Amino acid sequence: MSSAEPTLDSPPGDEPVPVDVPNDETLFEKIVNLCKQRGFVFPSAEIYGGFRSSYDYGPVGVLMLRNVKDMWWRSMVQLRDDVVGLDAAILGPPAIWEASGHLQNFTDPLVDCTNCKERWRLDQLEEPEICPNCGKKGTFTEARQFNLMFKTHAGPVEDSAAVAYLRPETAQGMFVNFANVLQTSRKKPPFGIAQIGKSFRNEITPQNFVFRTREFEQMELEYFVPPEEAPHWYEYWCHERFRWYVELGIPESKLRLRPHDPDELSHYSSGTSDIEFLFPWGWGELEGIANRGDYDLTQHAKHSGQKLEYFDQATNTRYVPHVIEPAAGATRTMMAFMLAAYDEELVRGELRRVLRLHHRIAPYKVAVLPLSKKDALVSKAREVLHLLQPHWMCDYDETQAIGRRYRRQDELGTPYCVTIDFESLDDEAVTVRERDSMRQDRVTISGLVEYLRERLEP
Ligand code: ATP
Repeated sequence: MSSAEPTLDSPPGDEPVPVDVPNDETLFEKIVNLCKQRGFVFPSAEIYGGFRSSYDYGPVGVLMLRNVKDMWWRSMVQLRDDVVGLDAAILGPPAIWEASGHLQNFTDPLVDCTNCKERWRLDQLEEPEICPNCGKKGTFTEARQFNLMFKTHAGPVEDSAAVAYLRPETAQGMFVNFANVLQTSRKKPPFGIAQIGKSFRNEITPQNFVFRTREFEQMELEYFVPPEEAPHWYEYWCHERFRWYVELGIPESKLRLRPHDPDELSHYSSGTSDIEFLFPWGWGELEGIANRGDYDLTQHAKHSGQKLEYFDQATNTRYVPHVIEPAAGATRTMMAFMLAAYDEELVRGELRRVLRLHHRIAPYKVAVLPLSKKDALVSKAREVLHLLQPHWMCDYDETQAIGRRYRRQDELGTPYCVTIDFESLDDEAVTVRERDSMRQDRVTISGLVEYLRERLEP
């Protein structure tokens, strides 16, 4: 075996030598390649040449994306008593989008280059006069406002009465269900409705892998508060949401909270801050926290003719709650976690790539690896696998030399590898290898769940 990985038999090696990984396009390329090679993210419809800006989450990516969403749900719903969940429809009638302002305002300025025919979003061009594709100056058409919503028809007849839209954000589901939730959940302001789900935007220039796609997942909270408390809760959620990323392992140096300039604010917002991550191409938004005032409930009340208010029996007053909205992207955030966790080091002269993911975000928590494919070892390893599976998502791998298998798990970000060797058959113990330090402990099989629980549950 020519691996630099320590084996069970090898003496402790030299200290690993850190490799500097600059946060630039080479890091981005490494992550895109890792995603493909290890089964995180595949280009969609690849056998047909791909479908621009669509991606499929592979066996490992689906686990990681689910962990991102689960951790959001845990902090926003499970650990609170003032937030309830919702899973609203993706397809909606035009009435929703008319009331919300999306039909009118959810547009980007689009320009075409008359020379090379490429299409651009004007507000994203570094030089508004110069085409980034052909380099020509002054070849753009007049900017047109392009609505980002995907339009379709519900039912067999494609007439205007059948028009429906795929939601461009999950938020409207919470507003149109405000009264239903208020009646059934026994909550009163301040309280929130949380939702995770797919959203669709016909982005003019999808780019940077899963950073900007036409189909993506959002994690949104609409938090309804008495109007006078809105400034307090806006500050509160900016702080809480920033903390969430830090607690799950993104270094503070790669995060910033950026308040919007007044001219950047959306039509509904009286204050918005973005939580931004330092991507290889610069700062980019992971989440926006907006003080939406009473805009949404008032609009939907007006358009639907329904009362969307709260009656406070204690003070005998009726009011339209104001809304604070932390709106995050799950797919974008997953990529940020990968970029922040990627590391390289030299172990006895050979390169080790490792995703130092927080254990809650890591796709697999444990990998079970029999040292060889001998029947006795395989059956013992399967016994250990079955012991662990009810507790954690486990990978099982009996192919290749052990060093290569460790290296694969490092690239998946698996925090613990459990190796079953011939001694295990006699002493009922296994070797547990920790991802970051590569430290190995001998642990009895009967104490294994407890050993891992102490390390994986906090
Ligand atoms: P951007 O300015 O990047 O277009 P936005 O301000 O329009 O984003 P919001 O409407 O605030 O985005 O949506 C909330 C979150 O949803 C964003 O912070 C981002 O994480 C995610 N998101 C929005 N658009 C996309 C997209 N096209 N692809 C992936 N994620 C997205």
